[in-house]
Formats: sequence, C-alpha cells, structure tokens
Amino acid sequence: MTPVVSRELVVNPQPASGLPPSLRGNRRVQPGPAIYRALTGGDPAQAETKNDVRFDRHVLASILAVAATEGDAVAGQAGLSGEQLTTLVSGWFPGAYDFAVTWRGDVEPLDDEAAMVRDLLMANRSTAGDVGRWLAAMIARRAMEPNHLWEDLGLRDRSELSRLLTRHFAPLASRNTRNMRWKRFFYRMLCEDDGFVMCTTPICTQCNDFDLCFGDESGESRMADRRRAVSLQAAARG
Ligand code: SF4
Repeated sequence: MTPVVSRELVVNPQPASGLPPSLRGNRRVQPGPAIYRALTGGDPAQAETKNDVRFDRHVLASILAVAATEGDAVAGQAGLSGEQLTTLVSGWFPGAYDFAVTWRGDVEPLDDEAAMVRDLLMANRSTAGDVGRWLAAMIARRAMEPNHLWEDLGLRDRSELSRLLTRHFAPLASRNTRNMRWKRFFYRMLCEDDGFVMCTTPICTQCNDFDLCFGDESGESRMADRRRAVSLQAAARG
C-alpha cells in the first residue's frame, strides 16, 4: 500500500522530524493524522473498530502516529525496540515498511518507572501473542508523558483506552472498580503490589489528590486538537 497523503490540504503546525522520507518536505502535511492515514489507509476520526482485530490495528496506528509527531526516535517514543517496531509495522502495516526503517533509530531501554508499569501490565495479560506484549511496553512508555494517558496514546477518547485495557489486560482492568484515572490506577496497583507509596491517606475522600485520581478524563484528542489548530490558523490567514 502506498502512503496516501499527497492531497493533504493542511499546514503542518508541528515539527516533522518524525516523518518518514515519503512525507517530509511537504508543509501541507499534518503529521499525526497523515501518518495514521499512511499506515491504515483511513482517517483516524472515521476508523471503524467494532471488530477486535480492527480495534487493535487502530490502537497500534494511533500510538505510532502520535509518537511520530515527537521526534526521530519513534520506536523509543512508542516504547519499542527497533526490532519490535519493524516486526509490528511489517506485520500490521506492510505497505508502510519504509516507516519502520526511518523510525527504528537509537532506542534507550525503558526507564525504571516505565519498566514497572510494563511489568504490571505484562503480569495481567489476557491475550496471547505479540500485540499484548508490545502494548504493555507502549502503554508504559506513553504513561510517562504528561497528558491523560488516552491522549498520549493518540486515541480518540478514554473509552478506547478502557476497551484496550479490558481486552488485553483484563485482570488488571477489572480491579478498577471505582473508575479511577487509568494512569493513577496503575500506580495505585503498584503501591498495593510492591509496597510503594503514592497515597498519603488510606481514605480517598480525605485525600488532597482526589481529583488527580478520579477527576474527569474527557478532552480533545491530540489529533483532533491539531486539526482544530490548523483550522484556526487557516481562519486567521483569511
Ligand atoms: S485519592 Fe489519594 S488515597 Fe485515593 S488512590 Fe488517589 S492518592 Fe491514593
């Protein structure tokens, strides 16, 4: 499949250093959605994900697309080794193999904190195969970014993250009975399992961090946010 991006009509508001050669030099390309389209052949906003395999493909493309907006070491930003990235792209997005070549780069191992989250997820897998293993590392790496986790995974809303965790890490997801924010929930689980200290009080309703753990996780997806920024720029230019 040839990447389908040449007719993009938007101006790139972000550095394009993570773009593979086939997308570079085109200032009309908006990186995140363009990369998603190049990987999948479809628009992220329109992705149909009722089927679990289609959902997995959407999730993998979303994470790679958002990671590719952040710099050259896309594999590292996505939490994968170069070898894992190559296997993922060639297996799930074979028409975009040139992306994998560009994205491998020099990858640092996950730091200790991300490795703990990855190991927590790995210990709670509910699917076999590479996808769950990749996702454990990808989610752990993206959890080190500052926004809501679903945003930093490039997903469209929180419900996609809940579905992802319920599908691939069901034993862990089922323990979030009070609908905590997922990133905080991971740390709460690490506290319970390994004796680390996150909670300053045993009673959530008396805790100053209550809003951090249980606050609203709605918002605009990073791709939608960029689309809006482009529209505003275009409107400002008249
Ligand atoms: S609200 Fe406070 S006590 Fe409850 S999980 Fe969060 S940090 Fe821990």
